[in-house]
Formats: sequence, structure tokens, C-alpha cells
Amino acid sequence: MRIEVFVNEPLDSNCYVLEHDSHAIVVDPGCVDVSLVADYIAQHALVVDYIILTHEHIDHVQGVKRLAERFGVEVIASAECFEALADPYLNLSAEYPGVEPQNYLPDRIITIDSLGGRLVWNGVEFRFFATQGHSAGSICIATSDVLFSGDTLLEKIKTYTTAPNSSIVELRDSFLMIKNTFSPTQIVYPGHGIPFTLKDVEPFIDVQMRLLDRKIDRLQQK
Ligand SMILES: [Zn+2]
Repeated sequence: MRIEVFVNEPLDSNCYVLEHDSHAIVVDPGCVDVSLVADYIAQHALVVDYIILTHEHIDHVQGVKRLAERFGVEVIASAECFEALADPYLNLSAEYPGVEPQNYLPDRIITIDSLGGRLVWNGVEFRFFATQGHSAGSICIATSDVLFSGDTLLEKIKTYTTAPNSSIVELRDSFLMIKNTFSPTQIVYPGHGIPFTLKDVEPFIDVQMRLLDRKIDRLQQK
């Protein structure tokens, strides 16, 4: 599987085009202007099969409407992500100056639960993991050696838990699941920034988990 990255403007999130046997999946089309991605797909004569969303935040979903309508494809995400797509408060579009409030829900949606957390696409197996914490709709998407982490796990930036549906308790559980489930050699393609391995960020995950533990303790003492 080949992975092409496009940086979504203006909020510098990553859109990934996954290619295999002339077919493609688009992950997180977060740019209103989808022409770069669409041109790339046309130039390489790719058939787009799905759009997958790591979560509902506006910088990851702004191009979904145009791309889904243009290619007539199904969109895969968590049920919570789809709920939040229709809510400008939850998808944060209401917060960003200059961004049009977004309440678009695609016509053809597939929840990760309805797939049983798994999709086999042209011989490539994807597994979907609910990783709430950064947002209620957050997921990670894994193949045998790659992990698309959305904003759940970034390389040098602490995971934000300031969205209306963020949860520090759930984020701690999500970090633990990632540590316990994937190999240190897994290559992580994050929602922002360049790829890294899980081994690279293990100390940073541990620091974040300790900070979350302290916050959770303090909340419980109140
Ligand atoms: Zn986000």
C-alpha cells in the first residue's frame, strides 16, 4: 500500500491517500479545496472506494462533502463522529474564525461498529479502534505495520482534551490500549506532523499518561 500525504490548509492537518492496485481510500480530507487531492487521483487514474475519518474536528473533515459527492463514495467513521459532523459545536467549526459552521452529514455512511471493527480492502486488512479522549468520535486505523492515529497520538504535541466532548479518562485508556496493542515498530501517521514509530514516542506517551493520572486523581478528590 502506498501512502501519499496532503497537508490540509489552513490548519495543517494531514490528509492521506492510500493506494493499492489502482484503488484509493482518502483519510481525513480536511481542506475545503479538494482540487489537489482530486487532481492527484485523476492523474494516477485511481478509483476511490472510501473516505475514512479519524474524527469529527473541522480541520479533518472540511473536504468530506465535496469529495464524497464528487466520487459518490461511502464514508467510514465512528457513530459518535457522524453525530458530531452534524453539530458545529462538537466538530469545532463554530469556534474557528473564518470557517463556515459545518453540519453536513454524508448520505452514505458506514460506522466502524457495523463493520465489526474490520475492513478488508483489496487484500489489505484495516482494523478500527475507538480511541475516545481527544474527542468522542476519535478512532485509530491500523494495518499490519501502520497506524493512522488522528489527533489521539501526535509526536511532539500533547493531545488536546479541550473539545466539548473530550475526556481525560478515556484518553488515558486509549493511550494504554495503543501501548498494549501495537508493536513498537508500528509506523504512526498522525493527524498533524510527520510519521514516527511508536517506539519514538513511548516516553512521551508515558509522560502524558502520568499527567492524565494526576489530573484524574485531582478531579476524583474534589
Ligand atoms: Zn482534532
